Parts: sequence; C-alpha cells; structure tokens
Amino acid sequence: MTAPVLDVRDVTKVYGQGDTSVYALRGVSLQVHRGDYVAFMGTSGSGKSTLMNILGCLDVPTAGRYLLDGTDVGTLTEGQLAVLRNRRLGFVFQSFNLIPRMSALGNVELPLAYGGVGTSERRRRAQAALRMVGIGDRGRHEPNELSGGQQQRVAIARALVTAPALLLADEPTGNLDTGSTADVLAIIDRLNAQGRTVVLITHESDVGARAKRVIKLVDGRIVADQRNAPLDGPPPALLVDGSVPR
Ligand code: ADP
Ligand code: MG
Repeated sequence: MTAPVLDVRDVTKVYGQGDTSVYALRGVSLQVHRGDYVAFMGTSGSGKSTLMNILGCLDVPTAGRYLLDGTDVGTLTEGQLAVLRNRRLGFVFQSFNLIPRMSALGNVELPLAYGGVGTSERRRRAQAALRMVGIGDRGRHEPNELSGGQQQRVAIARALVTAPALLLADEPTGNLDTGSTADVLAIIDRLNAQGRTVVLITHESDVGARAKRVIKLVDGRIVADQRNAPLDGPPPALLVDGSVPR
C-alpha cells in the first residue's frame, strides 16, 4: 500500500486562550488514499472549515500531526509550505475568491505565475483549464461579467491549472443555484474519475451522496466514516445464459 495522501493523527485545534478558548477539533484522525473522493459533513460550527484549512496547510494544528504525501507538514518552513500549496493542492471556496477586475484567464494563470511558469505556457495552460470546465469562451471576461456558476468554474480551473494531485473544496456549491450546482458537481466527479483525490465540505446530503466516502463531524469529532455504494448502482443482473443485458 502506498502512503496515504492525507494522514491526520490525533489533531486538535483550539482557537484563543483561557476562558475564551474554543475547541474546534478534538482529536481527529483520518487517512485518505490517492483517488478517493471524500465529503466532510456536519452542522455549522462542527469544525469542517478548520479541518479543511489544516488539510490545505493554511493553518496548523494546536496538537497532533498532519502528513501530506508522507511529509510531516509541521516540520516545514513557511516558504516550503507555500511551495507545497502551490504544487500539490488546488483550492475551491464557497465564495469563489476570484480577483476582481482581472480576466478569467488572468485569474486562472495566477498559480502558474507564482510557480514561475513563463507567459505563453501560462496562457496556454489557463486556456486549456477553462476549456476543461466548459467556459473556454469566457477567458476575457472579468468575474463581475460572469454568473455565479461560471465564476465557480473559473475558480475550479484556477485550482486545476497546476495539475495538483489533491483538490480541496469548502462548500463549493454553497452559493450556487440548482443548475450551476449540478454542473459544478459533474465537473468535480469527472476530475475524480480522472484520478484526482477530492476532499470537499458540504452540508447538503445530495452533494455528500456523490462522494465515495462521507465523514461526519460533530463538535470537532469524527462520529461516522462510511463508504457510499458506487454511484452507478449495483452491477447489472446477468441474463439466464450468463451474459450481461445490453
Ligand atoms: P464549520 O466550518 O463546520 O462551520 P468551523 O471550523 O468554521 O466550523 O468552526 C468550528 C468552531 O471554531 C466554531 O465554534 C467556530 O466558531 C470556531 N472558530 C472557527 N474559526 C475561528 C477563529 N478564527 N477564531 C475563533 N474561533 C473560531
Ligand atoms: Mg465552514
């Protein structure tokens, strides 16, 4: 067995100190292997975003360890963490977090610019990422000229453009209407089918149902960790002669 992509060991997160301290995570342990598709579910305040921020190396645990691709994140410098985030992780947030007054292409190119990729290569890859999420014709548009669903697709293209092994999404459909939600989820499903590891947060059970595995958080603790039946349902029944119906 290869090392898990994510290996969280007894992680605790406390915000603040003394009387005002808040226990956001209380001893969370979990492993996620390559190619998995995990949904974190739980009510507001259960610790989902805190956990996601730790998984994404945007925050550090108060206690416990976190290994990403076998590397103990706690041993890395800020600079090494920034490189790790840029190369290995793609983030999608509920609020899109696009840069206003910058074209969709410009937004998608940003992680490549930080990663030191040259201008023409950057443009080519950003255009390809926008095509992958079905908005190859919107590259020149600025965020305020795009619908919510289109903006989230730009954000997904930005998360993908570095070809990260791991996609992290915090309520990616939380601000979208039903139609855009379906589109964005279909894109995420396809990315997972292509081999990317996906970890997303949702409080909608129909979103969680599409994942391969659902982890439930209550009050900073994992209370359930279950595999969903494959989306395609059970394999087709065989005909009496042993062949598969067509
Ligand atoms: P969720 O994403 O499941 O809604 P969060 O991880 O955002 O939960 O929050 C978990 C708990 O930690 C909540 O009680 C929240 O109020 C608290 N919390 C989150 N971020 C901070 C912070 N920066 N400072 C203090 N408390 C925080
Ligand atoms: Mg949250």
